[in-house]
Amino acid sequence: MDCRRPAPTLGSGGEKNVVGEDVETLKRRLSLLDYLRQHNWASRPAGRSEFVGLCPLHDETRPSFYVNTRKDVFYCHGCGQGGDLIRFIQLSRHLSFRQSLACLDSQTIPAVDSATVLEQTATFYQQQLDHYPEALSYLNRRGLHNPALIKELDIGYSPGGSLRRYLMAQGYSFDLLRQVGLLNMNGSDAFYQRIIFPLRQRGHLINLYGRSIGAAFSHRFLPGTKGGLYAWEKVRHRPEVIVVEGLFDYAALRQAGFDNVTCSLGTHLNADQFLQLCDGPRTVYLTFDADANQSGQQAAEQLAHRLEAHGVAARRVLLPQGHDPNSFFVQGGDARQFQSLVEGAQP
Ligand SMILES: [Zn+2]
Repeated sequence: MDCRRPAPTLGSGGEKNVVGEDVETLKRRLSLLDYLRQHNWASRPAGRSEFVGLCPLHDETRPSFYVNTRKDVFYCHGCGQGGDLIRFIQLSRHLSFRQSLACLDSQTIPAVDSATVLEQTATFYQQQLDHYPEALSYLNRRGLHNPALIKELDIGYSPGGSLRRYLMAQGYSFDLLRQVGLLNMNGSDAFYQRIIFPLRQRGHLINLYGRSIGAAFSHRFLPGTKGGLYAWEKVRHRPEVIVVEGLFDYAALRQAGFDNVTCSLGTHLNADQFLQLCDGPRTVYLTFDADANQSGQQAAEQLAHRLEAHGVAARRVLLPQGHDPNSFFVQGGDARQFQSLVEGAQP
């Protein structure tokens, strides 16, 4: 993409004056960290709301380029440069302020398109749910029967074979659907006979999780990030937070009346998820699966150590052997019994 040519919506002919509000709107579409990651910047967490990596603006061998995700700014202790996303584009591409805005505007259009198509897809899948008895009976088998919760979580069903036609009739191009990952290489629907949970971050739909109800591999996401912890906004101010590894575990606990739950979508937390748990004083109750091979418990133990090292109190909730929170409730466990497991959690 040639960013030296002004993009049409922010043309240099003076037909549209870029003022502060437009700049803020542009920056909201794409965070500095997301932009850097799209450009393959490798980083690691460095304290609360900070990431550090090699500076993209000067040659160095030891990381001194810091990104503050709360303020959405960078600073390099090596070359002394700092500022926001637009400043970074100016410096890295040698563009004027105005050219940088145009560049950013043209780069974020695909992200907006993909968010829109994901929203339409999620809505389509939600509409399918009630029409497929096999989907409803699967939810029932997993103990999920509260219609209000199913609606709140926007749970849907992908029967497979009908999404492509539906979205192309809405005017989406085959290429876009392939890029977003909703279609496989051969053009068929990526999600086939799966229960769908939309994944949101700060209100934006960023991915879909599909749980197979048949023989296919159980878990599937679209390409790209899973984002942070599931429904983090609801629990971030709670002094005690229960973390589970699966969305059906999350749903089971919510249905049982626990509202201080979040889900890490697997036992390995990404950097964003880890930082979220570390961003304030709280006790974290790790409630991973009690698998026969101990993998869930080992992951919980390692994570508990890492959290403690960052000053966060962590406890491991020990479920009966062979159980996850979902199966615990499906097989007759109740909220009081689960609460006593939480109270007996181990450091
Ligand atoms: Zn630098």
